[in-house]
Amino acid sequence: MADQPSDTREAAPRPAIVGAGTMGRNIAVASAVGGQPVTLFDIDEDAVRDAESEIGSTVGTLTDRGVADVTDADDVRDRVAYTTDLAAAVGDAPLIIEAVTEDRETKAAVYEEIERHASASATLATNTSSLSITELASSLSRPERFCGTHWFHPAHIVPVVEVVYGDRTADETVDTAAAFLESIGKDPVVVERDIPGFIANRIQSAMAHEAWALLESGVASAEDIDRAVKGTFGFRLPTLGVLEKGDHSGLDVHHKVLSELLGEIDRGTSPAAVLTELVDEGRHGVKAERGVYDWSETDSERLTAERDQRLLDQLEVYRAARGPPDAPDNPDSRDSSDEPES
Ligand code: NAD
Repeated sequence: MADQPSDTREAAPRPAIVGAGTMGRNIAVASAVGGQPVTLFDIDEDAVRDAESEIGSTVGTLTDRGVADVTDADDVRDRVAYTTDLAAAVGDAPLIIEAVTEDRETKAAVYEEIERHASASATLATNTSSLSITELASSLSRPERFCGTHWFHPAHIVPVVEVVYGDRTADETVDTAAAFLESIGKDPVVVERDIPGFIANRIQSAMAHEAWALLESGVASAEDIDRAVKGTFGFRLPTLGVLEKGDHSGLDVHHKVLSELLGEIDRGTSPAAVLTELVDEGRHGVKAERGVYDWSETDSERLTAERDQRLLDQLEVYRAARGPPDAPDNPDSRDSSDEPES
Protein backbone atom coordinates (compact mmCIF):
# COMPACT_ATOMS: atom_id res chain seq x y z
CA MET A 1 0.00 0.00 0.00
CA ALA A 2 2.82 2.41 0.82
CA ASP A 3 4.73 3.66 -2.20
CA GLN A 4 7.48 5.28 -0.21
CA PRO A 5 10.05 3.15 1.62
CA SER A 6 9.11 3.12 5.29
CA ASP A 7 12.68 3.84 6.41
CA THR A 8 12.54 7.28 4.68
CA ARG A 9 9.35 8.01 6.54
CA GLU A 10 10.76 6.67 9.83
CA ALA A 11 13.40 9.40 9.70
CA ALA A 12 10.97 12.25 8.89
CA PRO A 13 8.93 14.15 11.51
CA ARG A 14 5.69 12.31 12.23
CA PRO A 15 2.18 13.60 11.60
CA ALA A 16 0.19 13.82 14.84
CA ILE A 17 -3.36 12.67 15.52
CA VAL A 18 -5.01 14.56 18.36
CA GLY A 19 -7.80 12.55 19.99
CA ALA A 20 -7.54 8.76 20.36
CA GLY A 21 -11.26 7.89 20.42
CA THR A 22 -13.22 5.88 17.85
CA MET A 23 -11.91 7.90 14.91
CA GLY A 24 -8.42 8.96 16.02
CA ARG A 25 -7.28 5.41 16.76
CA ASN A 26 -8.50 4.13 13.38
CA ILE A 27 -6.89 7.07 11.55
CA ALA A 28 -3.66 6.02 13.28
CA VAL A 29 -4.16 2.46 12.01
CA ALA A 30 -4.84 3.72 8.47
CA SER A 31 -1.61 5.74 8.56
CA ALA A 32 0.48 2.90 10.00
CA VAL A 33 -0.90 0.38 7.52
CA GLY A 34 -0.11 2.88 4.74
CA GLY A 35 3.55 2.95 5.88
CA GLN A 36 3.36 6.30 7.68
CA PRO A 37 4.59 6.53 11.30
CA VAL A 38 2.33 8.79 13.42
CA THR A 39 1.99 10.01 16.98
CA LEU A 40 -1.39 9.49 18.66
CA PHE A 41 -2.28 11.92 21.47
CA ASP A 42 -5.19 12.09 23.87
CA ILE A 43 -5.74 14.13 27.00
CA ASP A 44 -7.12 11.02 28.68
CA GLU A 45 -4.58 8.35 29.66
CA ASP A 46 -7.21 5.60 29.60
CA ALA A 47 -8.18 6.53 26.03
CA VAL A 48 -4.53 6.21 24.97
CA ARG A 49 -4.13 2.84 26.73
CA ASP A 50 -7.37 1.56 25.28
CA ALA A 51 -6.39 2.79 21.78
CA GLU A 52 -3.05 0.97 21.98
CA SER A 53 -4.73 -2.30 22.85
CA GLU A 54 -7.43 -1.96 20.16
CA ILE A 55 -4.89 -0.91 17.51
CA GLY A 56 -2.87 -4.03 18.34
CA SER A 57 -5.75 -6.32 17.40
CA THR A 58 -6.99 -4.23 14.45
CA VAL A 59 -3.54 -4.31 12.85
CA GLY A 60 -3.46 -8.10 13.38
CA THR A 61 -6.73 -8.47 11.44
CA LEU A 62 -5.50 -6.23 8.60
CA THR A 63 -2.13 -7.91 8.19
CA ASP A 64 -3.80 -11.36 8.31
CA ARG A 65 -5.97 -10.21 5.39
CA GLY A 66 -2.93 -8.96 3.50
CA VAL A 67 -4.12 -5.32 3.63
CA ALA A 68 -0.79 -4.08 4.97
CA ASP A 69 2.20 -4.32 2.67
CA VAL A 70 4.22 -6.14 5.32
CA THR A 71 3.60 -9.51 6.84
CA ASP A 72 4.97 -8.53 10.24
CA ALA A 73 2.13 -6.91 12.20
CA ASP A 74 4.63 -5.67 14.80
CA ASP A 75 6.30 -3.44 12.18
CA VAL A 76 2.94 -1.78 11.54
CA ARG A 77 2.08 -1.51 15.26
CA ASP A 78 5.48 0.09 15.91
CA ARG A 79 4.60 2.95 13.55
CA VAL A 80 2.16 4.36 16.13
CA ALA A 81 3.69 6.25 19.07
CA TYR A 82 1.39 7.09 21.99
CA THR A 83 1.50 10.13 24.25
CA THR A 84 -0.47 12.36 26.62
CA ASP A 85 2.02 15.19 26.03
CA LEU A 86 0.58 17.51 23.36
CA ALA A 87 3.79 19.53 22.91
CA ALA A 88 5.74 16.34 22.20
CA ALA A 89 3.08 15.12 19.73
CA VAL A 90 2.69 18.28 17.65
CA GLY A 91 6.03 20.06 18.19
CA ASP A 92 7.60 19.12 14.85
CA ALA A 93 4.58 17.48 13.17
CA PRO A 94 4.12 18.68 9.57
CA LEU A 95 0.46 17.61 9.67
CA ILE A 96 -1.89 17.50 12.66
CA ILE A 97 -5.22 15.72 12.38
CA GLU A 98 -7.67 16.72 15.10
CA ALA A 99 -10.23 14.06 16.08
CA VAL A 100 -11.42 15.22 19.51
CA THR A 101 -15.00 15.35 20.80
CA GLU A 102 -17.50 17.03 18.45
CA ASP A 103 -17.87 20.24 20.44
CA ARG A 104 -16.94 23.77 19.29
CA GLU A 105 -15.48 24.91 22.59
CA THR A 106 -13.42 21.74 23.08
CA LYS A 107 -11.99 22.01 19.60
CA ALA A 108 -11.23 25.75 19.99
CA ALA A 109 -9.36 25.07 23.25
CA VAL A 110 -7.39 22.26 21.60
CA TYR A 111 -6.46 24.52 18.65
CA GLU A 112 -5.18 27.20 20.98
CA GLU A 113 -2.86 24.64 22.60
CA ILE A 114 -1.82 23.20 19.24
CA GLU A 115 -0.91 26.63 17.85
CA ARG A 116 1.17 27.28 20.96
CA HIS A 117 3.32 24.18 20.36
CA ALA A 118 3.21 23.45 16.62
CA SER A 119 5.42 24.84 13.90
CA ALA A 120 3.97 27.84 11.99
CA SER A 121 4.19 25.81 8.77
CA ALA A 122 2.18 22.85 10.11
CA THR A 123 -1.09 21.92 8.43
CA LEU A 124 -4.01 21.44 10.82
CA ALA A 125 -6.95 19.30 9.68
CA THR A 126 -10.16 18.64 11.59
CA ASN A 127 -12.21 15.47 11.39
CA THR A 128 -15.43 17.27 12.30
CA SER A 129 -18.52 15.75 10.74
CA SER A 130 -20.98 18.56 11.42
CA LEU A 131 -19.20 21.79 12.39
CA SER A 132 -18.31 24.52 9.91
CA ILE A 133 -14.64 24.52 8.85
CA THR A 134 -14.78 28.32 8.43
CA GLU A 135 -16.24 28.81 11.88
CA LEU A 136 -13.73 26.44 13.53
CA ALA A 137 -10.92 28.37 11.80
CA SER A 138 -12.12 31.68 13.20
CA SER A 139 -10.16 31.32 16.44
CA LEU A 140 -6.93 30.34 14.66
CA SER A 141 -4.05 32.68 14.00
CA ARG A 142 -3.24 30.70 10.81
CA PRO A 143 -6.67 29.87 9.28
CA GLU A 144 -5.06 29.44 5.85
CA ARG A 145 -3.27 26.33 7.19
CA PHE A 146 -6.56 24.74 8.31
CA CYS A 147 -8.93 22.41 6.44
CA GLY A 148 -11.27 19.51 7.04
CA THR A 149 -10.26 15.89 6.54
CA HIS A 150 -13.52 14.04 7.02
CA TRP A 151 -12.82 10.33 7.51
CA PHE A 152 -15.57 7.72 7.63
CA HIS A 153 -15.94 4.99 10.23
CA PRO A 154 -14.16 2.55 10.25
CA ALA A 155 -11.42 4.91 9.06
CA HIS A 156 -8.85 2.13 8.51
CA ILE A 157 -11.11 0.50 5.92
CA VAL A 158 -13.35 3.11 4.24
CA PRO A 159 -11.27 4.35 1.30
CA VAL A 160 -12.50 7.90 0.70
CA VAL A 161 -11.69 10.89 2.93
CA GLU A 162 -13.34 14.24 2.14
CA VAL A 163 -10.86 17.14 2.18
CA VAL A 164 -12.81 20.32 2.86
CA TYR A 165 -11.99 23.96 2.21
CA GLY A 166 -12.96 26.65 4.72
CA ASP A 167 -13.37 30.21 3.42
CA ARG A 168 -9.76 31.03 4.26
CA THR A 169 -8.08 27.70 3.50
CA ALA A 170 -5.08 27.97 1.15
CA ASP A 171 -4.86 25.61 -1.83
CA GLU A 172 -1.51 24.40 -0.51
CA THR A 173 -3.19 23.23 2.70
CA VAL A 174 -5.70 21.09 0.82
CA ASP A 175 -2.89 19.80 -1.43
CA THR A 176 -0.81 18.80 1.60
CA ALA A 177 -3.72 16.95 3.23
CA ALA A 178 -4.66 15.22 -0.04
CA ALA A 179 -1.04 14.22 -0.70
CA PHE A 180 -0.78 12.69 2.77
CA LEU A 181 -3.98 10.72 2.21
CA GLU A 182 -2.81 9.44 -1.16
CA SER A 183 0.56 8.46 0.32
CA ILE A 184 -1.19 6.08 2.73
CA GLY A 185 -3.45 4.62 0.02
CA LYS A 186 -6.60 6.66 0.77
CA ASP A 187 -8.71 8.28 -1.91
CA PRO A 188 -9.21 12.02 -1.17
CA VAL A 189 -12.30 13.81 -2.50
CA VAL A 190 -11.96 17.60 -2.39
CA VAL A 191 -15.02 19.58 -1.24
CA GLU A 192 -14.52 23.04 -2.69
CA ARG A 193 -16.94 24.87 -0.38
CA ASP A 194 -17.69 24.56 3.32
CA ILE A 195 -21.29 23.28 3.32
CA PRO A 196 -22.99 21.45 6.22
CA GLY A 197 -22.55 17.69 5.90
CA PHE A 198 -20.04 18.11 3.05
CA ILE A 199 -20.91 15.63 0.25
CA ALA A 200 -21.38 12.12 1.56
CA ASN A 201 -23.31 12.85 4.75
CA ARG A 202 -25.77 15.05 2.87
CA ILE A 203 -26.59 12.27 0.42
CA GLN A 204 -26.60 9.63 3.16
CA SER A 205 -28.93 11.77 5.33
CA ALA A 206 -31.39 12.28 2.47
CA MET A 207 -31.57 8.50 2.04
CA ALA A 208 -31.80 7.80 5.79
CA HIS A 209 -34.59 10.33 6.24
CA GLU A 210 -36.73 8.61 3.61
CA ALA A 211 -35.96 5.15 5.07
CA TRP A 212 -37.23 6.26 8.50
CA ALA A 213 -40.31 7.85 6.91
CA LEU A 214 -41.06 4.56 5.12
CA LEU A 215 -40.66 2.60 8.36
CA GLU A 216 -43.02 5.02 10.09
CA SER A 217 -45.60 4.71 7.31
CA GLY A 218 -45.73 0.93 7.85
CA VAL A 219 -45.07 0.14 4.19
CA ALA A 220 -42.53 -2.54 5.17
CA SER A 221 -40.61 -3.92 8.16
CA ALA A 222 -37.17 -2.60 9.12
CA GLU A 223 -35.62 -5.86 7.90
CA ASP A 224 -37.29 -5.54 4.50
CA ILE A 225 -36.38 -1.85 4.11
CA ASP A 226 -32.73 -2.67 4.86
CA ARG A 227 -32.84 -5.67 2.52
CA ALA A 228 -34.33 -3.53 -0.27
CA VAL A 229 -31.43 -1.08 0.13
CA LYS A 230 -28.65 -3.67 0.46
CA GLY A 231 -29.93 -5.80 -2.39
CA THR A 232 -30.82 -3.12 -4.96
CA PHE A 233 -29.22 0.30 -5.31
CA GLY A 234 -26.93 -0.32 -2.30
CA PHE A 235 -25.65 -3.44 -4.05
CA ARG A 236 -24.71 -1.37 -7.12
CA LEU A 237 -23.29 1.68 -5.36
CA PRO A 238 -19.58 0.75 -5.00
CA THR A 239 -19.52 -0.09 -8.71
CA LEU A 240 -21.72 2.61 -10.23
CA GLY A 241 -22.05 5.53 -7.82
CA VAL A 242 -25.21 7.62 -8.14
CA LEU A 243 -24.61 9.97 -11.10
CA GLU A 244 -22.81 7.33 -13.15
CA LYS A 245 -25.79 5.01 -12.61
CA GLY A 246 -27.98 7.69 -14.23
CA ASP A 247 -25.93 7.31 -17.41
CA HIS A 248 -26.45 3.55 -17.35
CA SER A 249 -30.23 3.82 -16.84
CA GLY A 250 -30.55 6.60 -19.41
CA LEU A 251 -30.84 10.18 -18.22
CA ASP A 252 -34.23 10.55 -19.91
CA VAL A 253 -35.60 7.70 -17.79
CA HIS A 254 -33.78 9.01 -14.72
CA HIS A 255 -35.31 12.47 -15.25
CA LYS A 256 -38.80 11.04 -15.61
CA VAL A 257 -38.53 8.95 -12.43
CA LEU A 258 -37.28 11.93 -10.43
CA SER A 259 -40.08 14.13 -11.84
CA GLU A 260 -42.71 11.59 -10.73
CA LEU A 261 -41.23 10.82 -7.31
CA LEU A 262 -39.74 13.99 -5.89
CA GLY A 263 -43.13 15.30 -4.76
CA GLU A 264 -43.76 12.00 -2.93
CA ILE A 265 -40.55 11.88 -0.93
CA ASP A 266 -40.72 13.01 2.69
CA ARG A 267 -39.71 16.65 3.09
CA GLY A 268 -39.82 16.83 6.90
CA THR A 269 -37.18 19.02 8.51
CA SER A 270 -36.89 17.00 11.71
CA PRO A 271 -36.11 13.30 12.25
CA ALA A 272 -39.06 10.89 11.94
CA ALA A 273 -41.13 10.45 15.12
CA VAL A 274 -40.28 6.72 15.21
CA LEU A 275 -36.56 7.55 15.40
CA THR A 276 -37.13 10.18 18.09
CA GLU A 277 -39.15 7.64 20.14
CA LEU A 278 -36.38 5.01 19.94
CA VAL A 279 -33.80 7.56 21.05
CA ASP A 280 -36.03 8.77 23.92
CA GLU A 281 -36.51 5.16 25.07
CA GLY A 282 -32.72 4.69 25.25
CA ARG A 283 -32.77 2.27 22.31
CA HIS A 284 -29.54 3.68 20.87
CA GLY A 285 -28.46 0.64 18.88
CA VAL A 286 -25.71 -1.96 19.30
CA LYS A 287 -24.04 -0.11 22.20
CA ALA A 288 -27.34 -0.20 24.14
CA GLU A 289 -28.13 -3.76 22.93
CA ARG A 290 -31.37 -2.46 21.39
CA GLY A 291 -32.15 -0.07 18.60
CA VAL A 292 -34.23 -0.79 15.53
CA TYR A 293 -33.16 -4.39 16.11
CA ASP A 294 -32.53 -6.43 19.27
CA TRP A 295 -28.78 -6.96 19.79
CA SER A 296 -28.99 -8.32 23.33
CA GLU A 297 -27.92 -11.85 22.30
CA THR A 298 -25.10 -10.59 20.06
CA ASP A 299 -21.42 -10.51 20.96
CA SER A 300 -20.61 -6.93 19.91
CA GLU A 301 -16.89 -7.63 19.42
CA ARG A 302 -17.68 -10.48 17.05
CA LEU A 303 -20.23 -8.31 15.28
CA THR A 304 -17.61 -5.59 14.69
CA ALA A 305 -15.02 -8.14 13.51
CA GLU A 306 -17.50 -9.68 11.05
CA ARG A 307 -18.56 -6.24 9.83
CA ASP A 308 -14.94 -5.31 9.19
CA GLN A 309 -14.26 -8.55 7.30
CA ARG A 310 -17.23 -7.84 5.02
CA LEU A 311 -16.16 -4.23 4.53
CA LEU A 312 -12.69 -5.46 3.56
CA ASP A 313 -14.33 -7.64 0.89
CA GLN A 314 -16.15 -4.53 -0.35
CA LEU A 315 -12.92 -2.55 -0.40
CA GLU A 316 -11.71 -4.91 -3.10
CA VAL A 317 -14.88 -4.27 -5.12
CA TYR A 318 -14.48 -0.49 -4.68
CA ARG A 319 -10.84 -0.57 -5.78
CA ALA A 320 -11.66 -2.64 -8.84
CA ALA A 321 -14.42 -0.20 -9.86
CA ARG A 322 -12.72 3.03 -8.80
CA GLY A 323 -13.63 5.89 -11.12
CA PRO A 324 -15.87 5.76 -14.18
CA PRO A 325 -14.68 3.35 -16.86
CA ASP A 326 -12.65 4.81 -19.70
CA ALA A 327 -14.72 6.41 -22.44
CA PRO A 328 -13.44 8.49 -25.35
CA ASP A 329 -15.20 11.72 -24.39
CA ASN A 330 -15.07 11.31 -20.63
CA PRO A 331 -12.73 14.01 -19.30
CA ASP A 332 -12.42 12.14 -16.02
CA SER A 333 -11.47 8.81 -17.53
CA ARG A 334 -8.11 7.70 -16.32
CA ASP A 335 -5.39 5.58 -17.76
CA SER A 336 -4.99 2.41 -15.76
CA SER A 337 -1.34 3.41 -15.15
CA ASP A 338 -2.72 6.30 -13.02
CA GLU A 339 -4.30 3.87 -10.61
CA PRO A 340 -2.58 3.71 -7.23
CA GLU A 341 -0.82 0.41 -6.64
CA SER A 342 -2.86 -0.33 -3.52
P1 NAD B 1 -14.84 9.89 20.64
O1 NAD B 1 -15.72 10.43 21.70
O2 NAD B 1 -14.78 8.42 20.42
O3 NAD B 1 -13.33 10.38 20.90
C1 NAD B 1 -13.01 11.69 21.20
C2 NAD B 1 -11.68 11.68 21.92
O4 NAD B 1 -11.29 13.04 22.12
C3 NAD B 1 -11.74 11.01 23.31
O5 NAD B 1 -10.76 10.01 23.40
C4 NAD B 1 -11.44 12.17 24.26
O6 NAD B 1 -10.67 11.77 25.39
C5 NAD B 1 -10.64 13.09 23.37
N1 NAD B 1 -10.57 14.46 23.84
C6 NAD B 1 -11.54 15.22 24.39
N2 NAD B 1 -11.05 16.42 24.71
C7 NAD B 1 -9.74 16.41 24.36
C8 NAD B 1 -8.70 17.35 24.45
N3 NAD B 1 -8.92 18.56 24.98
N4 NAD B 1 -7.48 17.02 23.99
C9 NAD B 1 -7.27 15.80 23.45
N5 NAD B 1 -8.22 14.83 23.35
C10 NAD B 1 -9.44 15.17 23.80
O7 NAD B 1 -15.26 10.67 19.32
P2 NAD B 1 -15.06 10.19 17.80
O8 NAD B 1 -16.27 9.43 17.38
O9 NAD B 1 -13.71 9.61 17.63
O10 NAD B 1 -15.15 11.61 17.06
C11 NAD B 1 -14.04 12.46 16.95
C12 NAD B 1 -14.30 13.45 15.83
O11 NAD B 1 -14.51 12.71 14.62
C13 NAD B 1 -15.54 14.30 16.02
O12 NAD B 1 -15.30 15.57 15.50
C14 NAD B 1 -16.59 13.56 15.21
O13 NAD B 1 -17.63 14.39 14.76
C15 NAD B 1 -15.76 13.08 14.05
N6 NAD B 1 -16.31 11.93 13.32
C16 NAD B 1 -16.83 10.85 13.97
C17 NAD B 1 -17.30 9.77 13.24
C18 NAD B 1 -17.85 8.54 13.92
O14 NAD B 1 -18.45 7.69 13.24
N7 NAD B 1 -17.65 8.36 15.23
C19 NAD B 1 -17.23 9.78 11.82
C20 NAD B 1 -16.67 10.90 11.19
C21 NAD B 1 -16.21 11.97 11.94
